[in-house]
Amino acid sequence: MPSLFGKSLSGVKVRHCKNTADMPAVRMPIPDKVVIPMLQHMGAPCNLLVQVGETVTVGQKIGDTDAFLSVPVHSSVSGTVSAVIDFVSANGDKCKAAVIDTDKAQTPCPDLRAPVVQSHKDLVQAARDCGLDGLGGAGFPTHIKLNPKNLAEVNTLVINGAECEPYITCDTRLMLDRTDDLLAGISVLQKYLGVERVIIGIEDNKPQCIEKLTRATASMDGVSVRTLRSKYPQGAEKVLIYETTGRVVAEGQLPADQGVIVLNVATTAKLAEYLRTGMPLVEKMLTVDGGAVTRPQNIIAPIGTEIRDLIAFCGGYKEPAKKLLMGGPMMGLVVVSDDYPLIKNNNAILAFNQKESVQEPETACIRCGRCVAACPFDLMPLELDAAYHAEDTHALSLYKVNLCMECGCCSYVCPAKRHLVMSNRLGKKLLKEKGI
Ligand code: SF4
Ligand code: SF4
Repeated sequence: MPSLFGKSLSGVKVRHCKNTADMPAVRMPIPDKVVIPMLQHMGAPCNLLVQVGETVTVGQKIGDTDAFLSVPVHSSVSGTVSAVIDFVSANGDKCKAAVIDTDKAQTPCPDLRAPVVQSHKDLVQAARDCGLDGLGGAGFPTHIKLNPKNLAEVNTLVINGAECEPYITCDTRLMLDRTDDLLAGISVLQKYLGVERVIIGIEDNKPQCIEKLTRATASMDGVSVRTLRSKYPQGAEKVLIYETTGRVVAEGQLPADQGVIVLNVATTAKLAEYLRTGMPLVEKMLTVDGGAVTRPQNIIAPIGTEIRDLIAFCGGYKEPAKKLLMGGPMMGLVVVSDDYPLIKNNNAILAFNQKESVQEPETACIRCGRCVAACPFDLMPLELDAAYHAEDTHALSLYKVNLCMECGCCSYVCPAKRHLVMSNRLGKKLLKEKGI
């Protein structure tokens, strides 16, 4: 099989569990309060622009910064700021968060206007003003992605509709139910990025999406749909670029170095909606599923809604949740409490029951090599695991722990149930702490 870094482009077959794929998203009522962190994206946290006691409106900017890698944060509700708290996210990031008691009126911010976009520069500014980051889960600020140094050499836009994580189906619903916004987003991106072709990559376990988008794009010049094998992690940026264009984004390169920009379907549709309405990113479509949830479904909720309110809207817990995940089972983050708020790049809440949460004990590595065979980036997870446990920073660097995208393929196939992703996550942290 062809390769990303010279050997084999691997990945794993996972159970799809797309239980909610036939369920259009339902908008949930506004909760009594929301908690809006100032860091919901990859990069620097925003400075809070509101104070306790201040009233806010929907779409009002409540956080921003001059830092390069960041996007503003907006209020998802109208109401009153009742507290400012120190917040620690599920991945350990620290920032301030605004607690807003809602008035349920959802009064829109009076300053909102649909932006006038007549150039690439306008488009980049609009993406920033929208507070847009990678809604597929990566959280990378969209305006930076749209503005690579070598824009003139970028000729291909890849739209990520792979949705390869088990359980998650909100992108499936978006492709089926918000096709117009998705196509409008593609058109505006095609125009102002100046790309020759746009490829929408969709896994073959979503035949309805493939059929609908193939028909809908038939008359769009340069736009096509590419059917991908259902194999995790097809939606990982470098894997998707290879599968849709045949181009290899080498170690140390960015997609733009290969003439490609990749955006997720939800990011693309939200950009179009913002250009149409002027309402920034304040709500999220996500999948709520898992054996502990009474009524799994896709929902639309204000950003900042606490997990317990999301679950309550889905009928509550039908049995104790033994494992709560923000995101899918492969790359999602475990949270210890259901008071964590929904953030921009969170596309699923999974509440697993006892049976689904059983974790077999770790045993010694038997050097079977399955983790190496499964890694899409030709890494050596067994060596990284050993290096982390030995606190061997030289070996962690040598075996390139920083290239690990934490896709989870290695842990998934490991017969010894080694916690390989966790070792890599902590290994990266160790290098960072040592300044390596
Ligand atoms: S898959 Fe597990 S047991 Fe096999 S080599 Fe990798 S770490 Fe060791
Ligand atoms: S988690 Fe990292 S090491 Fe493991 S398969 Fe994915 S990229 Fe490779």
